Amino acid sequence: MGVCVDPQYGGAGASFMASIQVIEEISKVDPGVAGLPDIQNSLVNPIIEIFGTKEQKEKYLPDLCTKLISSFALSEPSSGSDAFAMKTTAKKDGADFLINGSKMWISNADLAEIFLVFANANPSAGYKGITCFIVERANPGFIIHKPERKLGLCCGGTCALSFENVRVSSSAVLGGVGQGYKICMSLLNEGRINIAAQMVGLAQGCFDATVPYTMERKQFGKSVFSFQAMQHQIAQIATQIECARLLTYNAVRLKESGKQILKEAAMAKYFAAEVAQQTTVKCIDWMGGVGFTKDFIQEKYYRDVKVGSIYEGTYNIQLNTIAKQIESEYKGI
Ligand SMILES: Cc1cc2nc3c(=O)[nH]c(=O)nc-3n(C[C@H](O)[C@H](O)[C@H](O)COP(=O)(O)OP(=O)(O)OC[C@H]3O[C@@H](n4cnc5c(N)ncnc54)[C@H](O)[C@@H]3O)c2cc1C
Repeated sequence: MGVCVDPQYGGAGASFMASIQVIEEISKVDPGVAGLPDIQNSLVNPIIEIFGTKEQKEKYLPDLCTKLISSFALSEPSSGSDAFAMKTTAKKDGADFLINGSKMWISNADLAEIFLVFANANPSAGYKGITCFIVERANPGFIIHKPERKLGLCCGGTCALSFENVRVSSSAVLGGVGQGYKICMSLLNEGRINIAAQMVGLAQGCFDATVPYTMERKQFGKSVFSFQAMQHQIAQIATQIECARLLTYNAVRLKESGKQILKEAAMAKYFAAEVAQQTTVKCIDWMGGVGFTKDFIQEKYYRDVKVGSIYEGTYNIQLNTIAKQIESEYKGI
């Protein structure tokens, strides 16, 4: 849970590539479980480590590396893709702030003790008023609603949150008042690469669970794998998974060498989600009737994969980002 965190705060001090591989490996077995280290390693820990004060780092990072789960609360009922149009406010009250509003779709909220909550401290300034607060679960007025009943990733609780005059002191502000937009934008790419890794792992796990079956299952006196029509489909999917993995690792490589990766992170996330979706569909086809039952794992991967084209920016939002970058490269703007 603290893969990249500096060892002085109890982390492993490993590379971003290491944290990506953690997500990929866990997702091969259960992409829902991967949601825990994903949020913590790609968003919460780095935000506290990069933007936190010495006191905030000492207070939260050791526990986040060892025993506490956290959530990242940006989306709201009326603002998802347009996340910075949020309605949650933080009103100054003496030395404190009072947070009012609601959040939606907050991963791991059923278990989390620490929440990074984005609220607007100056709505007249638009996105420049958005501020990130550290809110603890026990804070009075902070309500965590029941987990949503989802299509997939069912092991992870995704909850709505309500804030009714939640009082936090100025020491709960992360990175300064009005810095919330900058904080989100600075970790946007890392978040997307993590989802790409989750999708690559999911696709590989589903593929690995399926190919041996095609070798054992006999029809017309032969294994179904031996039919060339099957082999070509299996070869195509294996190639697609490898392409998605390489796009993901390439985005990591560029990030680690300090390059701009807005386009590459969006491409990796978009493509890996698309490939993972195709993989789960094909794996069910290759299993025949049993692939359609709940007795085999393929149907779980098929349900879990769907969210890959929705969270951390939908398909359309990734394509918008890629197209915008292409436009600016070609127009020189
Ligand atoms: C399981 C799950 C876990 C999540 N975890 C978290 C979390 O931990 N923290 C958090 O803050 N959020 C989380 N989210 C929220 C997630 O990031 C949003 O659902 C996502 O950003 C999409 O927002 P929306 O659901 O409001 O869809 P909308 O923004 O309403 O989009 C609806 C449709 O309109 C399209 N659309 C919207 N704008 C444009 C545009 N400009 N151009 C083209 N098409 C457009 C979209 O592509 C989509 O097809 C989670 C969501 C899910 C489902």
